Amino acid sequence: MAKKTKVLDFHSKWNYAPAPESADHVEVNKSYGLFINNEFTDPLSGKYFETINPAREAKLAEVAEAGPQDVNRAVQAASTAFHKVWSVMPPAERGKYIYRIARIIQERARELAVLESMNGGKPIRESRDVDIPLAAAHFFYYAGWADKLDYAFPVKHSQKPERIKPVGVCGQIIPWNFPLLMAAWKLAPALAAGNTVVLKPAETTPLTALKLAEIIRDADLPPGVVNIINGGGTTGAALVNHPGINKIAFTGSTEVGKIIQKSIAGTGKKYTLELGGKAANIVFADAAIDQAVEGVVNGIFFNQGHVCCAGSRLFVQEPVADLFIRKLKDRIETLIIGDPLDKNTDIGAINSKEQLMKIKRLVKAGLNEGATCYQPDCSLPSKGFWFRPTLFTNVTQANRVVQEEIFGPVLSIQTFRTVEEAIEKANNIPYGLSGGVWTDKGAKIFNVSSQIRAGVVWANTFNKFDPSSPFGGYKESGMGREGGLHGLAPYIQMN
Ligand code: NAD
Repeated sequence: MAKKTKVLDFHSKWNYAPAPESADHVEVNKSYGLFINNEFTDPLSGKYFETINPAREAKLAEVAEAGPQDVNRAVQAASTAFHKVWSVMPPAERGKYIYRIARIIQERARELAVLESMNGGKPIRESRDVDIPLAAAHFFYYAGWADKLDYAFPVKHSQKPERIKPVGVCGQIIPWNFPLLMAAWKLAPALAAGNTVVLKPAETTPLTALKLAEIIRDADLPPGVVNIINGGGTTGAALVNHPGINKIAFTGSTEVGKIIQKSIAGTGKKYTLELGGKAANIVFADAAIDQAVEGVVNGIFFNQGHVCCAGSRLFVQEPVADLFIRKLKDRIETLIIGDPLDKNTDIGAINSKEQLMKIKRLVKAGLNEGATCYQPDCSLPSKGFWFRPTLFTNVTQANRVVQEEIFGPVLSIQTFRTVEEAIEKANNIPYGLSGGVWTDKGAKIFNVSSQIRAGVVWANTFNKFDPSSPFGGYKESGMGREGGLHGLAPYIQMN
């Protein structure tokens, strides 16, 4: 275990949840069914899969796997609820249900945070202070829009206001890195706009979505408005290809995003894709260096680097490069790797064995390409999936560790001389999700951030999120936005 020093500051303004400290705070059922029509039901597929704690490689529960017939049942339930109840309900009433979900998430924040860390491996400080409060905040935010859609999307005089309509039944597919938060990003705007949903969580992290199913039932949402089914890629594909689905909202890898785009081409289904990223974090010589070091550490090691917008490519201006890299190495020596449920942990467990193998493969590719690797000399727990924070120097733009999304605690470091060089290197990548700029010059912030081709660019900070702020990518990072009014628009039909 590495030395204990100060902890990373990932706290947000939504920080209010009480501190959860142990797994005693959470009840996990032995087995979970499919959540359809507000009931947990056995799968017609007859199949179940195990979900584990990646920090201990210990089984947590069995979860029903939805086959094609189950997907059909869920879509039918959502379709009936859409036509009979949800789309015809007065919007202010819909808003009340969504507020209720937000409040119950707050009430059960402790339990949800512990479960998120147990099932996903992320440090409890992050699930407690970021994931769960932000999930509640998204429901609060979109609840407020439910009865203001005419104001949000004003129609021309020639059109009648009732022409603003929901899209219908939405198939929503989410990844494992922010399980509850991604569910909230997807469900809250869809419900506010009057749509019904079939949500499929990722196969390694189904448990907080299943707790959310309980919350939705406790909030008395009409049956069928939200249906939550689990399974892997086959279940996801069955949902995407179901003819009863009107819109697909997908968050995950660029590879799967492309498959989905091809398979729904010509079907008339609407879609939004939130895909991979490889953000540039650019530190200029005039930046507040110690603050920038903290920001770079937050940018790449938050959630073990399992973050689509992670600042995984660092560019440091030459005059301060040696100093900056030395301070960065000193700082990562102090990071605490270990038990996700320990409040002092900075870096938790890698989410799955498959993800650990992927990280190892890409790090090996970096070494084979001649890059220099630096890792702190800390011990790792004997059981579970772990990876040390890793820095690569002596890399070129062509190296795989610079071009490919590793989705782990691995940072590649390059230097630059001029603003133009930094911008060119930052944009020389297939992705365009996020970026960061560190400088004390306001004009430089405007200049650089307006030229970086990315959906989000942070200045003198990183990984800050707010429900009112749109998030999404350019290029191979996807299309469409989530968050804010932009995130509501894909759930509305204007004709
Ligand atoms: P993934 O693409 O492997 O899986 C994502 C989801 O898609 C899972 O629920 C999975 O079961 C499902 N799926 C897999 N194959 C499918 C298919 N053929 N049809 C339909 N669904 C299918 O990605 P992942 O490994 O779970 O997540 C990591 C990726 O997600 C990274 O690339 C990351 O950058 C990206 N991500 C993007 C954002 C964003 O907002 N842009 C946010 C979080 C994660």
